Amino acid sequence: MANMFCVECGKDGPIFREGSCISCYIKTHSFSKGPEIIDIPMCSHCSAYKYKNLWTSDLLNEVLRKTIKNTFNISKELKKIDINSECKEEKNGMDCKVFITGFFDDVKLTEEHNLFVRLKKTVCDVCSKRFGGYHEAIFQIRTDKRKLSKDELENIRLSVETLVENMQAKGNRGLFITDVGEEHGGLDFYISDKGSGLVIAKKIQDQFGGTIKQSSKNIGMKDSKQVYRMTYLLRLPAFKKEDFISYNNSFFYISSISGSKVHVIELLNWTKQIFDLKDIQKANIHGNKELVKDMILVSQSESEVQIMNPKTYETFDIRKPKNISFESKTVQIVKIKDRIFLFMKNIINK
Ligand SMILES: [Zn+2]
Ligand SMILES: [Zn+2]
Repeated sequence: MANMFCVECGKDGPIFREGSCISCYIKTHSFSKGPEIIDIPMCSHCSAYKYKNLWTSDLLNEVLRKTIKNTFNISKELKKIDINSECKEEKNGMDCKVFITGFFDDVKLTEEHNLFVRLKKTVCDVCSKRFGGYHEAIFQIRTDKRKLSKDELENIRLSVETLVENMQAKGNRGLFITDVGEEHGGLDFYISDKGSGLVIAKKIQDQFGGTIKQSSKNIGMKDSKQVYRMTYLLRLPAFKKEDFISYNNSFFYISSISGSKVHVIELLNWTKQIFDLKDIQKANIHGNKELVKDMILVSQSESEVQIMNPKTYETFDIRKPKNISFESKTVQIVKIKDRIFLFMKNIINK
């Protein structure tokens, strides 16, 4: 490049193009061009935005950046492009200044455009399905021979709702609960998507135990394909966590239930065991926390303790479940029928 005078500023220096130095060339050319008004469809129910025919859970900033990138004509000579905007809310949309920054032959430049973004209120794909009562799966929770307790109803409902929120936050926009019903002492969740419905059923089974049965029902044709609605039935066992049960003449405390595994502690010797749910389905249920009573520890030998009922002053001896020396002045017992066991929850769970 010959050293000449720039036709624009008259400076003596390298000429870039068309007789101008690079800084004059940049001043007299523009590198981006775009419309003055653009439309972004927005759902008036869930505030989702639409970009390129697809509804997304992206924030408006991100949707606007993508829309600008897609609708503005930006010179290919501009490298490392960065798009920013500053918007002011107006009645029907947003009044924005768009800044397109990039490098032109190592010189950084920013071009500014005025843009009015019209937010077109409409109903998104997911909300229109939701209002139409759309559901591909019903997740039913029932209990064997009893109704769900109030706590169970609340806990399960909260767990399902939290799961759905987490899955939505991870980008599963199409997932929603159409309706929740309390039916026959159980719960019914109407879920938009059958794949997610099964995932939810399995996670709830992990958390609360029970067995899952699946069934499907043909609900007609759509786009020349048969459409099936799935039902996932989670049947919780008759017993629950912290219940005392007996089975084959042995007595157990249920420490936890997870999936099809029931974790128990045998009351006679405080050993931990794991049962398969189907094997102890028929166990007798004796009760829950209300069976545990505080007693005064009178004395102890290697194999027995003598305790006194603080209300009746009645004393009796109980065999120790294992070789252990009790430090405390009180102990807990659980009385089931005519059997009495020491039940020190804090020690057992260690
Ligand atoms: Zn110049
Ligand atoms: Zn919506």
